[in-house]
Amino acid sequence: MRQRRDPFARQTLVPVRQLGAECAECGDTRRVYGVRLDSDGGRTDTLKGSFCSWACAEAYQGVRLGR
Ligand SMILES: [Zn+2]
Repeated sequence: MRQRRDPFARQTLVPVRQLGAECAECGDTRRVYGVRLDSDGGRTDTLKGSFCSWACAEAYQGVRLGR
C-alpha cells in the first residue's frame, strides 16, 4: 500500500505496517497495514481496522479513500 492523499478532507492517508494483524475485509495476514490520517492542521487520527490493500480498506469502509 502506498500513501494516498484526500484533497477534500485535506489529509494524507499513511499506511503503517502491522505485524500479526489480519485484513478486516479478506483475512489476509501477509502484508497488513493500519491507516494513519495526517491532517494538514497537524492532527493525526487512525482509520478503524487493518487492511492488506486500498481495495479492501475501501470495501470495508464503504467509502473512497483518497487517491
Ligand atoms: Zn484484504
